Amino acid sequence: MNYLLCHYSEIGLKGKNRSLFEKRLVSNIKSALPDCFLESVKRPEGRVVAKLTDQAEKGEIEDRLLKVFGLAYFSFAQKTESDLEKIKKEVIRILDDGGFSPQSFRVTTKRSDKSFPLDSPEVSRKIGATIVERFGWNVDLENFDLNISVEITRNGSYIYFKKVKGYGGLPVYSSGKAIMLLSGGIDSPVAGFKMMKRGLGLDYVHFHAYPLLSDDSIKKSEKIFEVLKRYSPESKLLLIPFGEVQKRIKLEIPEKFRIIFYRRVMLEIATKIADSRSASALVTGESLGQVSSQTLLNMRATEQATELPVLRPLVGENKEEIISIAKEIGTYDISILPDQDCCTLFNPRRPETNADLEEVLKLDEELDLEDLKGQAIENKRVLT
Ligand code: ATP
Ligand code: MG
Repeated sequence: MNYLLCHYSEIGLKGKNRSLFEKRLVSNIKSALPDCFLESVKRPEGRVVAKLTDQAEKGEIEDRLLKVFGLAYFSFAQKTESDLEKIKKEVIRILDDGGFSPQSFRVTTKRSDKSFPLDSPEVSRKIGATIVERFGWNVDLENFDLNISVEITRNGSYIYFKKVKGYGGLPVYSSGKAIMLLSGGIDSPVAGFKMMKRGLGLDYVHFHAYPLLSDDSIKKSEKIFEVLKRYSPESKLLLIPFGEVQKRIKLEIPEKFRIIFYRRVMLEIATKIADSRSASALVTGESLGQVSSQTLLNMRATEQATELPVLRPLVGENKEEIISIAKEIGTYDISILPDQDCCTLFNPRRPETNADLEEVLKLDEELDLEDLKGQAIENKRVLT
C-alpha cells in the first residue's frame, strides 16, 4: 500500500478554475506532509495520487491530512496495471497477505478510464467471483465487513480497503486571503477554522495591552495559533500592542462608547495590515447578540470603520455550537484559560448596546489616533 489516493469533492465543480484549485490542493498536501514521506505527487483524472517512500508513516499521514481542507476522503492504496487479470491477482495477493477473515464482503469499482473493456459492475462481479472461489467468503452489497475498492484509471489501477473521511470544503488560499482578528476567547479560533474550511488563507492579528496588563492573552493567542496553523502552515500571527491606543480612547471617548471604539480601531489597524499583506477581507468571531458589543447596531457602528468586508462566520451560531467545534479542533481548553483580555482594560460598566452611527461618527471626527495606530503597527511582533 505505498500509494496515497486523495479525492476531493467541491473542487470538481469549479469549471475553468479547477486546475488552480487542484494545484493549490496538491501544494497544501505537500506542505502538510514531511518531504521524506513523498516520492511524487500527481493529479491524474480528478484525484491526487502520491507515491509514498518506505519512510512514510501512515498514522502520521492520516493525522495531518485530516487537517487539509478540500479533501473529501483519502486512502492508502496498492497500484497495479489496468488489466483485469493483473488486478484480480493483486487483490488476491493483498488479501492473502493481510490475514483478513470477514463474514461478508463487497467489491466497489470506479472506472474513470472509459476505454477499459468492462464497466464497473462487471469488474466488481468478476473480482468478487475470484474472491469467493479463493476464500469462500459471502458477498453482501449492503451489510459487508470488508469493502474492496478498485479504481481504474488510464495509467494504472488502485486497490484499497479503507476510506478516511476529510472535512471537505476548499483548499486553504484557494478562496483568497484575509486577516483574522484573534482574541484569546472561544469564538475567534472557531471562526478562523470555518473560514479556512471555505478556502480562505489567514494571517492573524492579536491586540494586547502588555505591559499594562500581563502577557497571558499573548501566550494564549500563541497557543491557539499553533493549533490553527496545522490547517494552514503558511499563516502568521501578528501581535499588536494596543494599550496606548486604549489609554487615549479612555481619555477622549465617553465611557459607554469605549468598546465600540476599541473595536473600530482594531478594524482600522487590521485594514492597514490587510493592505500591506494583500488580504482582501477581515474575519471576526462575532455572533449576533452574544454580548452587548455584538448587537446589530453596534456591529454596524463598528464595521463602518473599514472599507473591507467583515466576515463573521459565527454570526448565526449558538454558543453551544461554537463550543462543540472549539472542543473538536482543540482550541477550547486553551481559550478557557484565565487571561486579561485587552478589552478588560478601562472597560465601561454600562456599555452602549445600540450605538447610534451618527453619534459615533461625530466622536470619530474629533479623535486623531493616526500616530498611535502607526506606532502600534510598527511595534508589532510577527510569529511564523
Ligand atoms: P471571542 O470569544 O472570539 O473572544 P467574544 O465573544 O469574547 O469573542 P468580543 O470580545 O466582543 O467577543 O470580540 C468580538 C471579536 O472581536 C472577537 O471574536 C475577535 O474577532 C475580535 N477581538 C476581540 N478582542 C480582540 C483582541 N484582543 N485581538 C484581536 N481580536 C479581538
Ligand atoms: Mg473575547
